[in-house]
Amino acid sequence: MTTNNRQTLGPFMNLVCFQYLRNNTEDVAGRAPIIAAGRNRGYDVVASLGLVGKMSDPTEIKDELNSVLGADGTRLCIVQQVSPLPDGGYEVHIVESACTANQQAGEPLCAFTLGVFIGAIHALTGVRMTGKELQCQACGAPQCIYQITPI
Ligand SMILES: [Zn+2]
Repeated sequence: MTTNNRQTLGPFMNLVCFQYLRNNTEDVAGRAPIIAAGRNRGYDVVASLGLVGKMSDPTEIKDELNSVLGADGTRLCIVQQVSPLPDGGYEVHIVESACTANQQAGEPLCAFTLGVFIGAIHALTGVRMTGKELQCQACGAPQCIYQITPI
């Protein structure tokens, strides 16, 4: 089997296409498959770096995930802050999520991006995580804030 590496177009596509996939999948099947896809993506990104189970320091997690997902990485979002929670989880502050680009919503909208952080932090720490979004830029908040907690 050959791999199509898109010699002309490379690895990026317009966010409008991502938004159609994300929003229409939610309309048809709910958020679960979008979050699951994000979780797998986040876990696999960390695994590809050989970092499974190797990181728990919040500053190291922030720097690593911002380098992989931020302006010099896949451009999923910009990671501004990662803080520890008393239960062993982390609060993650991000801006410019792909999920919220040009979107307005009455409730937090990040499903794929939230999933990526659930999966990535699971992989980095070796602890299975779940997560919820406390505030979202699609609702007019200055940042998206995710609470990622151990299962
Ligand atoms: Zn959000």
